[in-house]
Amino acid sequence: MTGLLPRRRGALLPAAIVHMALAVTMSASFAQQAPVSAGPADPKLIEDLVAAGRILADHGLLDGWGHVSVRHNKDPNRYLMARGLSAELVTAKDIIEFDLDSRPVDTHGLPMSALFTERYIHGEIYKRRPDVIAVVHTHAPSLIPFGDTKVPLRPMYHRAAFIAFGIPVFEIRERAGMTDMLIRNAALGRNLAEALGDHPAVLMRGHGAAITAPSLQRVVSRTIFLSLNATLQADAMRMNAPITYLDLEEARLIEAREGHGLARTWEGWKRKAMAKP
Ligand SMILES: [Zn+2]
Repeated sequence: MTGLLPRRRGALLPAAIVHMALAVTMSASFAQQAPVSAGPADPKLIEDLVAAGRILADHGLLDGWGHVSVRHNKDPNRYLMARGLSAELVTAKDIIEFDLDSRPVDTHGLPMSALFTERYIHGEIYKRRPDVIAVVHTHAPSLIPFGDTKVPLRPMYHRAAFIAFGIPVFEIRERAGMTDMLIRNAALGRNLAEALGDHPAVLMRGHGAAITAPSLQRVVSRTIFLSLNATLQADAMRMNAPITYLDLEEARLIEAREGHGLARTWEGWKRKAMAKP
């Protein structure tokens, strides 16, 4: 008699514990997959984010692999970026909200594989740099030689003055050995953000670059002029003559006024990019 009851209890109790443990695990796992939304973002911000991608596509600087993001206007611990889609095809409904671990709040019913693999570039830079409001990841061809040769990028002209603050090169082999070059996880994202440090951009050897700025308009402008500066610098270096780059003090004076005139340039870029079907 005495032997049956304990056995029954013994059979029931572990099941109840397992059930509770499962419930806790499932709830934790759900919480991990779905961070809380900061609420609807400013529609103008979404409109400008869509435009930013299209402008950069228009300049040949983003394709189906590059991406642009912006911090959420309601919460600095959230950022907005398109689902995995070629930049010129993105519309407002394709924008997804992420937390800084790059977990989507809502995938709009899409599988995780429909998101950009390299979104960790954005989340980890936002974590490390509270001053950064917008980030671009590009595979711009003109930047590749400078990442591969380690010839430093130097500021050729006033539009690209920010280069005077230093553009480091991220060498993924030093952190992860042999890889497929992609920033596939948060650890690699952190490594890249560390290499960026306090600089405006970082080149990625054999891959591309990550560019930062205190606004969407400026990150688009910096991406366009960083790429153009690389072309101009390579041209000048082929002339086999001494090059006078912008001085750091000149760059400081220009940067103090950066943004002056950008609004009108932005409107022109945006109108042209958004007029395309
Ligand atoms: Zn990439």
